[in-house]
Amino acid sequence: MSQESEQGTLYVISAPSGAGKTSLVAEMLKQDGKLGVSVSHTTRPVREGEQDGVNYHFVSREEFEAMIARGDFLEHADVFGNYYGTSQVWVRQTLARGQDVILEIDWQGAEQIRRLMPDCVSIFIVPPSPEALRKRLNGRGTDASEVVERRLNEAADECSHAVEFDYLVVNDDFNVALGDLLSIVRCHRLRMQAQQLRHCDLLIRLSEHR
Ligand code: 5GP
Repeated sequence: MSQESEQGTLYVISAPSGAGKTSLVAEMLKQDGKLGVSVSHTTRPVREGEQDGVNYHFVSREEFEAMIARGDFLEHADVFGNYYGTSQVWVRQTLARGQDVILEIDWQGAEQIRRLMPDCVSIFIVPPSPEALRKRLNGRGTDASEVVERRLNEAADECSHAVEFDYLVVNDDFNVALGDLLSIVRCHRLRMQAQQLRHCDLLIRLSEHR
């Protein structure tokens, strides 16, 4: 089988807010040129520092609902009052080109993807302790305590689904967690099923002179 016909792998990465998922994924992309990340559509308001088309495609609820009706999403979910969805066409075309794709999505989306694409690899990232999570969610301490409590409840809800994933990464030390994530990707690429396709000629040549 040629390189061209090799499908990329779909990595689904979920985490509670405050676990460091976005920074870890950004670093994975820098260190591994074969990885790409899907830019989701969302109806939530743009946050300071975010760019349309880079962090998300920001759309209205009407636009999002029209996209659902057209079947544009591979998966979509209502996450704490806002819609989020993954583009069907982009993901399928990118995987077909042989590029690996990361989806940074919540547990509901992960559940849909697992059903639709059972060959995906799912990873859940957690903070090292509830105290560390509280500290991270507190940020600079500028948020009202109800806001922090709500985020902690949402995080607990997300974490209750961790066991549904293939891998668990604990983000205590950023570089260790990053190494763990890159190792999962690397190990997956080394599976015999995948290697056999890539190195078919080599395996034949090596077994010729018996
Ligand atoms: P935030 O608004 O903080 O960027 O993201 C809130 C939650 O929505 C996070 O858990 C994030 O992973 C999730 N999310 C982002 N994009 C998608 C998506 O396309 N689909 C689903 N199901 N969840 C998403």
